[in-house]
Amino acid sequence: MHEKCGVVGVSLADRAAARPLYYALYALQHRGQESAGIITHDGFQQHSHVEMGLVGDAFDPADIASLNGSNGIGHVRYPTAGSVDSSCAQPFSVSFKSGSLGLSHNGNLVNAGALRDELAGLGHAFTSDGDTEVIAHDLARNLLDSGLVEAVERTMGKIHGSYSLTVMHDDRVLGLRDPQGNRPLCLGELEDGYVLASESAAIDALDGELIRDVRPGELVVLDPDGSGYSTYRLTTLDHTAHCFFEHVYFARPDSTIDGKLVYEVRRELGRKLWAENGIDTDVVMPVPDSGRAFASGYAEAANENEGSVEFAEGLMKNRYVGRTFIMPTQDERERAVRLKLNPITSTVEDKTVTLIDDSIVRGTTSTQLVELLRDVGASEVHLRIGSPAITAPCYMGIDMATREELIAADRTVEEVRETIDADSLAYLSPGAIADALDTERDDLCMGCITGEYPYDIDGEPTDRPVRQPVIADD
Ligand code: SF4
Repeated sequence: MHEKCGVVGVSLADRAAARPLYYALYALQHRGQESAGIITHDGFQQHSHVEMGLVGDAFDPADIASLNGSNGIGHVRYPTAGSVDSSCAQPFSVSFKSGSLGLSHNGNLVNAGALRDELAGLGHAFTSDGDTEVIAHDLARNLLDSGLVEAVERTMGKIHGSYSLTVMHDDRVLGLRDPQGNRPLCLGELEDGYVLASESAAIDALDGELIRDVRPGELVVLDPDGSGYSTYRLTTLDHTAHCFFEHVYFARPDSTIDGKLVYEVRRELGRKLWAENGIDTDVVMPVPDSGRAFASGYAEAANENEGSVEFAEGLMKNRYVGRTFIMPTQDERERAVRLKLNPITSTVEDKTVTLIDDSIVRGTTSTQLVELLRDVGASEVHLRIGSPAITAPCYMGIDMATREELIAADRTVEEVRETIDADSLAYLSPGAIADALDTERDDLCMGCITGEYPYDIDGEPTDRPVRQPVIADD
């Protein structure tokens, strides 16, 4: 599964914004490794540095020093719409008659094509094939004859899909979350200003305090002198569509998203996994690092009930091998699993093992791990998964693979078990996810497990009434 992107924005009293933005991007690096960028504004002009690569490689001290101004936005990107090249790296910047704009986008518009066609017909020239440029052009156009809040509201009325944005209009930093709150965005306070970020871990990295999540459909405008902020609830819908996978996989465990600490949610999901599908084995072990919090909750619940389950690390991770999903071919991905994880024989040999992971996508890793554990002497290998089976793709900014590649898309649980050769396999139920998040299923996006989406996507069913924006209103 590919991560999406991370966004940040800061407004400070009289300190350069570049270094805090740089630190915040480091804290958000897990959300995108393809490119990193910062745009600042010094009150007169915009300064920009956007590079391909990791945050640590994209900036040197001279780059940071050249980014003048106490207001700015930043972005880390994994490509979800548009090309894998610098034309789609962000923040995206555009100059127009009434000023300059910078945009950092996390999410994916599902009507970007129609909006792009309309804007192209009105004379807008595009330099990338990404959806962020479409938002930038529409907003720039609206700013020509509207104030800031009205212009944002008009753009919001046209774009359809998932988006959390940090935006710079001249030296003013804004944060905007889509009406269903699909992607996270939170607001924090610093000693000398305010910060908007995809995850609260970025606020922690700046020694700030999390104030709250930006609400679905809400615009937050930071004062350029760092003294405060204004908020505008531009849209209110009956239901949200928070991506439950943020809590299961994407977000850092030390982040608080939509009011819940991710680590505690994962532990609770582990406890529920035991309650729904617990099995008595000698040892419970996580797939590092993704299954760790789930496994600790599962083992804790097991011990409360059975009293004697050993919770142990049975697989050691080589931290210097890249994440498996950046291997372009299936063959390379398969070899990468063996490079990445090595079993600890004494934990596994002659034991019945429950292996816990957060999800199964293609099944490659699970198959390899079951085989590895059997090779070093496990007498049984049972797999327990802290989320429901992924059966459909994501159109909201996460590259989950195509339906053909998803192991559970056209297989029953028993067929998946057979394919990966585990002694047993069980997933968590969708209801348990909603319970752990203390919310209704209708307030979560579960498109990748139900095949029904909260947005109107060509060729796919929706799980709620959706109003597609009318594109041409000029
Ligand atoms: S389809 Fe799945 S991964 Fe995509 S936004 Fe919805 S819950 Fe998240």
